[in-house]
Parts: sequence; structure tokens; C-alpha cells
Amino acid sequence: AKAAGKNRVAVFDYTLRAERLHHSEIAAGLRRALAAGEFSLAYQPVVDLATGGIHAVEALLRWTPAGGRSIPPDVFIPVAEDTGLIVDIGWWALEQACAEAKRWHERHGIAVTVNVSGRQLRERTFRETVMEILTRHALPRNALTLEVTESMLLATGPAETQRIVGILADLRAHGVRIALDDFGTGYSSLAYLRTLPVDILKIDRSFTTPLTGADHRQARAFTKAIVELAASLGLSTVVEGVESVEQAGVLQRMGCPLAQGYLFSPPIPPREVDDLLRATPWR
Ligand code: C2E
Ligand code: CA
Ligand code: CA
Ligand code: CA
Repeated sequence: AKAAGKNRVAVFDYTLRAERLHHSEIAAGLRRALAAGEFSLAYQPVVDLATGGIHAVEALLRWTPAGGRSIPPDVFIPVAEDTGLIVDIGWWALEQACAEAKRWHERHGIAVTVNVSGRQLRERTFRETVMEILTRHALPRNALTLEVTESMLLATGPAETQRIVGILADLRAHGVRIALDDFGTGYSSLAYLRTLPVDILKIDRSFTTPLTGADHRQARAFTKAIVELAASLGLSTVVEGVESVEQAGVLQRMGCPLAQGYLFSPPIPPREVDDLLRATPWR
């Protein structure tokens, strides 16, 4: 037993070191990535289920280190958070999204939605920087939606939560929309929603698959209840990760206004967004 224990410790140490190395390699790469122009944005359409029209596009970060393979955001964003690099990367993403989305808004009236990280949101100059970027790109405020998560609002205690809620409420009062991302994966009760300055709920992908699974009756009742409660609070809902026609049909019948997922389109480069907007394939 002792030998096995020792062994386990050795294996554990090895894994830990390997992860550290990985982490520090990613961190070093990230430090150079902005200046080297290695980031780009891919955009995924958010589709209006009633009309089949494109309502908005979500900007999703892509990192392709020079001469290497693209590294997924689920891998590099936690490292960017740990190192604080996410703040500059996040501002780059907002800036780039506003620049690229301007013509889509002008020609097709669609909004762009941009993910914000917790650290970026807690920056003292968050509000001013958002407003300044919008002004510089002459993008109407209602053409931008910021995506935040419940955990970001709750992470650092009631005083900080109140400060951040105040900032989001202020941005909202100026026309910027706020979406609560990954809804259903956090802790907050539905009643709590009423107190948050949000316009849109994004229901996490983990709710979508069960809609057409073995326990679909219960799953549908649950999602329908969220959609209806959101509507009664004046909020819109986006269901994420819609992969099948059957799922889209179920959501449409329960009155869910918006959906996003591979059924409609994966995240695509900006030039393909132009083609998609011209083609309006789901109308
Ligand atoms: P998210 O904000 O929840 O974004 C949705 C993720 O689901 C995206 O992964 C998207 O490609 C993927 N997805 C969309 N439709 C489907 C589907 O039908 N099926 C499946 N299986 N997946 C689908 P992606 O692009 O890898 O991004 C992962 C996460 O990284 C995002 O999750 C978000 O939390 C974070 N992220 C991405 N871009 C940014 C950014 O600019 N800033 C910050 N702070 N976080 C970002
Ligand atoms: Ca998101
Ligand atoms: Ca999400
Ligand atoms: Ca997510």
C-alpha cells in the first residue's frame, strides 16, 4: 500500500509539473500574442426563431500562435485570467468587434455581443472604456451587448457586487445591452434575476441536449418555465448549443425567441458573416 501511495505521489508531482510548464508556456505565448497580431475573432449568429433572421452575432476569441495550431479559448482564457493578460486581450476583443460589426449594423441592423471576463469587469475604468470604444467607432450603444456571468457578479462579496451591478445598470441606461451568459450553471435563484441589470438570458448548452433526450418531458417543462419567467420579467432568452432541427422546433414551439448553435452556424470568420447576412439562409 505504501509503495502504491508513493507511486501515486510521484505521478501526481509529474502531472503537476507538466501542467505548470504548459501554463507558463501558454502565458509566455499570450504575452507576445497581442503585439504579434495572433488573435482574431470568429462570429456565431444568434437566430430569431420566429423569423429565421439573424438577430446578432457573438464574437468569440481565436488564438493562432505563429507557426502553430490554434489554441481553444477554454485552454488559454483561464491562463489569461490568472496572469491578468485577459484585461488587455478583452479590450482588444471589444475594440475589434466594434470595428468589424459596424458595417453589419449599418447594413443589416444587427447587434454584436462580446464576452467580458471578471477581471476586465472589475477594472476601475470599465464603464468609461466601453463608452470610449463605442464613441471612437461611432457604433450606436444599442448595437452592443456585453455578456457577463452570474459568478462574475457574485465573486467578490456584496459591496463589489453592488458596485459592478451599478456600472452595468449605468451602461444599460445608456443603451448598451447586458446578457447573462451560461445561465443555469451558477447558483443564483430565479428570483434573484429581478434584481440584476440584464436584458437577455443565455441558457447554457447543458439544457439543450436533454430537450430531445430520454427525459425530454421534464427538460422541456424546465426550459419553458425559464423562458416564460424571463419573458414576464421583460427579458429575452437565447438557448445555446442548438444542434438539431428537432431541438430548434421544440424551442420555437415553447416561445423561445432566440437560439444559437451549430445547426445554424459554427463561429465563422468576419468575411463569411457578410455572405451569411446577404444570404439570410434561415428566413
Ligand atoms: P461561451 O461564451 O459560452 O461561448 C459558446 C461556446 O460554445 C463557443 O465555444 C462556441 O463555439 C460553442 N458552441 C456554439 N454552438 C455550439 C453547438 O451547437 N454545440 C457545441 N458543442 N458548442 C457550441 P468557444 O468559441 O470555444 O469559446 C469557449 C468559451 O471561451 C466561451 O464560452 C467564453 O466563455 C470564452 N470566450 C470566448 N471568447 C471570449 C472573449 O473574447 N472574452 C472572454 N472573456 N471569454 C471568451
Ligand atoms: Ca458567451
Ligand atoms: Ca454561454
Ligand atoms: Ca461558457
